[in-house]
Amino acid sequence: MKKNLIVANWKMNLSLKDSKNRAREFATSITQLSERFKKNLPHIVICPSFSALSAVHTSVRATRGLVKVGSQDCFWDPQGAFTGEESPVFLRELGVEYIIVGHSERRMYLGETHDMIEKKIHSFVKEHTLIPILCVGEKKEDRASAKRTQVISRQILSAISSIRKHKPARPLVIAYEPVWAIGTGNPCTARDCARVNSLIKKILSSYLGTAYTAEWCRIIYGGSVSAKNIRDFVVEGISEGALVGGASLQAREFFHLIRSLL
Ligand code: PEP
Repeated sequence: MKKNLIVANWKMNLSLKDSKNRAREFATSITQLSERFKKNLPHIVICPSFSALSAVHTSVRATRGLVKVGSQDCFWDPQGAFTGEESPVFLRELGVEYIIVGHSERRMYLGETHDMIEKKIHSFVKEHTLIPILCVGEKKEDRASAKRTQVISRQILSAISSIRKHKPARPLVIAYEPVWAIGTGNPCTARDCARVNSLIKKILSSYLGTAYTAEWCRIIYGGSVSAKNIRDFVVEGISEGALVGGASLQAREFFHLIRSLL
């Protein structure tokens, strides 16, 4: 059985000093917890801002791989005249293993398009062995299910279009993140989440194949997840993990969230 995946998205919230301290505090508690629960611990990934990636990687090293590091974004090309961008090769050098792709905040504020997201997925999966966490989800106005199905199908199909033909044996994480649930304290219901997860699984299976989807794809949920509600999504077998924003910012709170899964 696949282990669950819990990803902390710190967004642009913590300074270098705070990132380092919180990662260190969290790493210490997880290491202690692992003495009792090693087999059951989920995969854990922390995604700090670019400036803190190296420090956070150093802070979690003592966990011996229990806590990994991810980036909140990355450019698709490895090198060149791309002012302000980060390279997948350079991020790999810093110890980054996961990349969040197409978060709704990037689609909304930075104009990230389907085409850009597709280039990123292609680059990370096929060329750079980085694991993409592809974020999909509908806005409030798309909530009526017909529109929701259309929005999510388009987001997934455009993102995976280039890996469809030559499927690389590499993991792909899809995070279902309804935009209206992010940072609002108002998560989607477990029932609704289950419905969307089966839609996502159906789309992946029909374009990538059932066996490939079962082996390489993992569907997680994001949107106001906390220690109080995570079991509704993860332990009940609805999602295979969670993408956590606000509730991952304090080391103790994030630790309790992980602890509540065991
Ligand atoms: C997110 O931004 O990906 C997220 C899930 O945030 P929050 O947990 O704060 O809703």
